[in-house]
Amino acid sequence: MQKKLTIVLALIGLKNEAFFLENLKLHLEEVFSPADVDAVKVSSSLLKEAYTPSRGQYNSTITLALLKNKLEKVEADRILAITDVDLYAQGLNFVFGEAQLPGRIALISLHRLKPEYYGEGDGELFKARIRKEAVHELGHTFGLTHCPNPACVMHFSNSIHDTDRKADSPCQACREALRRNR
Ligand SMILES: [Zn+2]
Ligand SMILES: [Zn+2]
Repeated sequence: MQKKLTIVLALIGLKNEAFFLENLKLHLEEVFSPADVDAVKVSSSLLKEAYTPSRGQYNSTITLALLKNKLEKVEADRILAITDVDLYAQGLNFVFGEAQLPGRIALISLHRLKPEYYGEGDGELFKARIRKEAVHELGHTFGLTHCPNPACVMHFSNSIHDTDRKADSPCQACREALRRNR
């Protein structure tokens, strides 16, 4: 019998979470089963120090460090922070998310998952993308690295097309690694 994981979703200044939250919770409870998923709200003022005016974007590595401080007392095995600002990391134009590898905290951005960003308008597609990036970044917190299988959720997404091509759960090999590491 595996220990039940507690995963907390930290919603950073979100206002539109109602349409995806329940779907995401159920999916994470299944992929990381046995797991309980809860949500807390975090003020968007946390992001101020991570803003880079010259790029109009937020540094994801700094955001992770700020979250680590801010959420230190939150009792959870894993925390997945969700923001809708545009994130970047050193050497990359943008990132869909970033995680401690391994660690307790992961971060995803909805900014470039929104179908509107690409001139599309499909709510189900948006929810699927959120599930994939959430599982991907949480997977890193369990020590999973990038998987060569393009259909696996742990495959690296260089663009939204890579995200759309992959499944919302780990391949057999990654599932086994997850079971060993949790
Ligand atoms: Zn990754
Ligand atoms: Zn895999």
